[in-house]
Amino acid sequence: MSGLPHRSPPVVLAAPAGTGKTTLARHLVDGDHGFTFSVSATTRAPRDGERDGIDYHFVDRAGFEAMIEAGDLVEWAEVHGRDYYGTPRKELERAAAAGQHVVLDIDVQGARLIRERVPEAVLIFVLPPSVEALMERLEGRGTEQSDQVARRLRSALDELASAPEFDYVVVNDDLEGCLGDIRGILQAEGFRASRAPGLAKEVERMRSAIDALLREEYTNVTEQE
Ligand code: 5GP
Repeated sequence: MSGLPHRSPPVVLAAPAGTGKTTLARHLVDGDHGFTFSVSATTRAPRDGERDGIDYHFVDRAGFEAMIEAGDLVEWAEVHGRDYYGTPRKELERAAAAGQHVVLDIDVQGARLIRERVPEAVLIFVLPPSVEALMERLEGRGTEQSDQVARRLRSALDELASAPEFDYVVVNDDLEGCLGDIRGILQAEGFRASRAPGLAKEVERMRSAIDALLREEYTNVTEQE
């Protein structure tokens, strides 16, 4: 990308369960060195195929409480009224050191805390294309009982209401299209004047050069109306 050197801000993706945000987050990170995934800590049990340290850091309640005590979590929340989830501070530090966008796949409560504590983060809300598509995803998992589907739908009611608090809203109607939208948002964010640490210096360098030109080559030129 052209432009002045800039930091790569953390990216928060929030959405109701069943919107496909974990898939979006994984695709953003896969094969793109500009992105890395924030591996959360959680007390929930691993699902089939999930790997410790890659999908989540799976810890027990005591382990999670120890992380809170030690100040190791930037934010944490009880999600769906059942399990604890939190973002380890070191995930953000690792990405900052590598100059990468860190992608946080977290819930709305977590997103609000990140807004307060990491003000440079870009907050994106992902909407499902329709309620029908959402239901298909929730029921289609096959692993969920109807009480679990109902609990996720109740969470979706609250989560959807928070969409206007976010910086950006995208609709996940098509994976590639939605990924393109998110990349476009981050590209534009990279051009924000407030994100260019070298801007003041660069502007000062240009102004000095213009000032010197005016003094050396244009001293005798008077301004015409
Ligand atoms: P799941 O159990 O389906 O993987 O995730 C349940 C919910 O917890 C999802 O909305 C997910 O984004 C959210 N979540 C995952 N990690 C974190 C975290 O570190 N902090 C918060 N606040 N929510 C998280």
